[in-house]
Amino acid sequence: MSEPVHLTGLTGDELRAFARGLGEPDYRARQIFAALHRRRLRSFDEMTDLPKELRATLAERARASTLAVESRYISADGTRRYLMKTHDGLPVETVFIPEERRDTICFSSQSGCPLQCSFCLTAKLGLLRTLTAGEIVEQIVVALNDAYGVGVRAPRGTNLVAMGAGEPMLAYDSLLKALRVMAAEDGLHIVPNRVTVSTAGLAPKIRELAREPDRPHLAVSLAAPTDELRDELMPINKRWNLDELLAACKEFEKSLKPGERFTFEYVMLDGVNDREEHARQLANLLNRHRLSAKVNLIPHNPAEGLPYQPSPPERVERFKEILERKGVRAFVRRPRGRDIYAACGQLAARTQANNLSAALVHQLTR
Ligand code: SAH
Repeated sequence: MSEPVHLTGLTGDELRAFARGLGEPDYRARQIFAALHRRRLRSFDEMTDLPKELRATLAERARASTLAVESRYISADGTRRYLMKTHDGLPVETVFIPEERRDTICFSSQSGCPLQCSFCLTAKLGLLRTLTAGEIVEQIVVALNDAYGVGVRAPRGTNLVAMGAGEPMLAYDSLLKALRVMAAEDGLHIVPNRVTVSTAGLAPKIRELAREPDRPHLAVSLAAPTDELRDELMPINKRWNLDELLAACKEFEKSLKPGERFTFEYVMLDGVNDREEHARQLANLLNRHRLSAKVNLIPHNPAEGLPYQPSPPERVERFKEILERKGVRAFVRRPRGRDIYAACGQLAARTQANNLSAALVHQLTR
């Protein structure tokens, strides 16, 4: 018998084709789509508006969900981290970040990551596997259900960021498909304009994304202002160096429509990339390429196994000042969920929170 189909990763059209294959009318496909995405049900048993026989057939031929939630960790700042397992036993992590204006869900595009950035804990896992569209959509469903209740709409909508484990540009097809599925009005209705994809710098994929008609926002991780330092921190720089990367970014920037954002990220590592000279080099580099994107400074999130410490706040402020003096807009990002290994670069399938929040560790029942 063939592998069960993961219905959560299918577009409305694909679901209709699947239903027709079972001899079912199109309205059944619409019902199933709404059950999976608008009502956010994770099993066919709960879809009691479907005939019992159809539910039995679906259970045999398909899956409504494939990720099993293993644990949930809650930070003192309200951030939640979910550790899940794929059907083939690989870890997937998702982070829910409550915010004043609109909550954010940070999802993973791969289990592990092949890129080996020296400051990121996920690199220690290596690449386990790229996630499917269905596995991406499911992460959002799990986080939304836990935050608001099953099928309950987020009161102010939700922002999504592809900044969890993995390199989204290496999961390009799954990612864009997941975004199409999530944009559906009769489903999650999270449009690409609410989504930011962060990349370590795959120049050809940045150019490809620039040509997509309906695309998410882009963030590019720089971490260093010179090739020499960036080669050391982010080995992908040896494949596409700063000039090639920034030329691709320029092409992306040229294609921006009103309201589209484009950001650079710069992780601040104590004594490594945070000197005044680095700030000047960074500003000159962006100015030379005539890039007007803003820079988000991210204080390093430390973890055992990583050889760095975060830059002290005064140094981050000084760095920001120098950028601004040279006409580069800069912002300092506040770390969230550090105490539960939920912050940027801390996702490595840790099965405990640290001592501070161990008391807050809960097992999820659904
Ligand atoms: N692979 C993608 C997306 C995941 S990382 C990328 O590289 O952009 C998301 C952001 O977290 C990146 O900007 C990355 O540079 C940053 N980051 C990684 N490890 C970090 C750490 N330990 N502390 C702070 N930021 C980190």
